[in-house]
Amino acid sequence: MANQVNKLGCRVVLYPQPLVGHITPMLHIGNALYSKGFSVTLIQTRLHSPDPDAFPNFTFHYIDETLWSAEVLASDPWEKVALLNKRFMVPFRDSLGRILRDASSAEESVACLISDPLWDFVAAIADEFDLPRLGIRTGGLLAFVMYESLPLLRQKGYFSLQENEQEAEVLEIPPLKVKDLPTENHDAIAVTVEESKSYRQGIICNTFKELEGSILDQYSRSLSNAPIFPIGPLHEYSPTSMGGILDQDHSSITWLNTQAPKSVLYVSFGTLATITKEQFLETAWGLAQSKHPFLWVVQPKLINGSDTSDHELPKDFITEVSGRGYIVTWAPQREVLAHPSVGGFWTHSGWNSIIESISEGVPMICFPFFGDQKVNARVVSDVWKIGLQLEKKTERREIERVIHRLMVEKEGEELRERVGALKEKAHSSLMEGGSSYRALDQLTDHILSFCRAENLRDETH
Ligand code: UDP
Repeated sequence: MANQVNKLGCRVVLYPQPLVGHITPMLHIGNALYSKGFSVTLIQTRLHSPDPDAFPNFTFHYIDETLWSAEVLASDPWEKVALLNKRFMVPFRDSLGRILRDASSAEESVACLISDPLWDFVAAIADEFDLPRLGIRTGGLLAFVMYESLPLLRQKGYFSLQENEQEAEVLEIPPLKVKDLPTENHDAIAVTVEESKSYRQGIICNTFKELEGSILDQYSRSLSNAPIFPIGPLHEYSPTSMGGILDQDHSSITWLNTQAPKSVLYVSFGTLATITKEQFLETAWGLAQSKHPFLWVVQPKLINGSDTSDHELPKDFITEVSGRGYIVTWAPQREVLAHPSVGGFWTHSGWNSIIESISEGVPMICFPFFGDQKVNARVVSDVWKIGLQLEKKTERREIERVIHRLMVEKEGEELRERVGALKEKAHSSLMEGGSSYRALDQLTDHILSFCRAENLRDETH
């Protein structure tokens, strides 16, 4: 495929982790930078690879690594990242070398690499090629501050507390509670934190000042004061119907068209979380007993260690929810959240989902699983106050109750008003003069300075 060249004659190379929640924001950054005149190359694996036809402005560069065995698809997220790091170092070095040689023979400048700190080998390779490097923060800032503080929190004894002390506050990072801290994978998290800190030339964040401005300084300090570019919400740089990494079932939109305004609860636990069969059935019956219309994404691997037959729902449930419940394996989430019939989002609290929900002014029920999700959920419920948490056991009566609070009670109305106000702020931040608009201009100048430096180097050689 021939290189797609844009008007500045200056190229950025993007290298996302091949996880849906990490590729998608990188594609949005690509669109943002393309709109500023940069040429964009995307280094891609074959897993979760976007359809190149949906991105005619990008140059796709594939790494053909035969990694995608059932083993990788089934492994837990951190294991998956470890495997990716093990296998992709050599092919990545080859790819980057080829891209730089091609650019040099076309007399084109490559300004920088933009990569994901989940990769643990990128720093050494970019340095080898003398290529500037920017990072992407795909998650929220408080979660990073928490990750960075894990050694300190361990030293303070938070991980030795008893079961009955889990509600205690983490005094160093309010308003987090002990139960919001991740208890596993601390070594893998520490590697990612160190990688993030190695991006001295800057980090692009999927957030905006009006949302997380209060911890921007703390975040910046934890990255040794590297330049921070909060240009989000990133998805706003791409069309709502941005085409596919995974198949999108558009029948959900047709179904939503038949429902009353703000009546539907959208339920999705993202692309990585799994639940037990018991939780699956309790969720189903909680939805049924709530008597509210719902659109539920049940991915083929939603039930822990299961095959698709486990995802069958009891006949009496199907009869009970007929006409008011709609179940799909995948939904075009941004279009769903933007639909006037959707009045609430029951989410696993992945950062992309939260920021997409804020952008559409949809209040949430947070049901976090692992990693940063518990921190995200705490911020949604206790700081921004735009959602509720399902903190107790996944039990049908609890579910029914929390849905009622969100969709019917005054409390839900207040959450809706607050998220509506935040939606306005998100949109203003992207308008001319807004905080994200300005941050994108600064990012553009920053990247152009790399290009100018490279051109100068070429001239003096
Ligand atoms: N998503 C979607 N349809 C679905 C489920 C998820 O489009 O049925 C998208 C969603 O819009 C979001 C991403 O997948 O952009 C999930 O990212 P998130 O950070 O919320 O969670 P993760 O899957 O990484 O845990």
